[in-house]
Amino acid sequence: MGWFTEQHEHFGLKIRVTKKLFESKNLQHIQIYETSGFGKMLVLDGAIQLTEEDETFYHEMLVHVPMLTHKNPKKVLVIGGGDGGCVREVLKHEPDEVVMVEIDKDVINACRKFIGIDKGALNDSRVSIINEDGIAFVKNTSERFDVLIVDGTDPNPVSKSLVEKSFYEACSKITEVFNTQSQSPFIQKDFFRDIYRNMVGFREKRVYLSYVPTYPLGLWSFIVAANSKLTLDLHAIKQRFGERRIETKHYTPELHIASFTVPRWVEKIVKELD
Ligand code: SAM
Repeated sequence: MGWFTEQHEHFGLKIRVTKKLFESKNLQHIQIYETSGFGKMLVLDGAIQLTEEDETFYHEMLVHVPMLTHKNPKKVLVIGGGDGGCVREVLKHEPDEVVMVEIDKDVINACRKFIGIDKGALNDSRVSIINEDGIAFVKNTSERFDVLIVDGTDPNPVSKSLVEKSFYEACSKITEVFNTQSQSPFIQKDFFRDIYRNMVGFREKRVYLSYVPTYPLGLWSFIVAANSKLTLDLHAIKQRFGERRIETKHYTPELHIASFTVPRWVEKIVKELD
């Protein structure tokens, strides 16, 4: 069929596509393709959100780091994540309850029908799905969570509320451990800085890095935060990982610890903001 190009100001990411499986333009422009080398691919407003081939690189690092930071996460809130990959990984920790707040129900429906990476997680009886803006939910809820994970899009008109100070402040009041994806600190420095700077209300926050080949230039960041001391102890993380009998394709406890060792230029950006 040709090529899909994710267009940036100074470069493009080009993936060979063989078939368009779905397209709609309501809240966001959703496209789902079959690719020749990466399986099915979800694109929102021109930005690649996932491919079947490397989505575990992202979802496992997004989920297992905060979930293993908590000693016994039973109640989890996911903001965004309509493709279901994040909830799929959360369920590996056997929580009692997972709430997913996704603003765009078209993403959920299209991903369920045409991609299926949730592997049934979105139909699990412990999971409830709320169709609402994440910021409205966290500001109005009286519930408390052990872990809150933000699996949002690149800041766009729909998701920009998820990088506001008032969003993080509200999150810090309702969860013990918090994690968000925070874009590429290399190619999206301003987004990364805004997220880090605006993330107020928590006692501690730490940046960690991973790589997701089909995200812009591959390097990706996350920021985990908590109101108590963040556990970064290989022995404790290994023990929890073993006890919970979690199976992964990408994540390991060793990688978990290593991902917090960041290059000097990232350290420098963070220091300037602290
Ligand atoms: N893995 C992805 C990435 O980093 O590229 C994120 C994928 S996930 C599909 C992002 C989801 O966040 C989308 O389905 C989008 O609709 C949802 N989202 C964006 N803004 C939101 C908001 N304000 N409240 C709740 N969900 C939101």
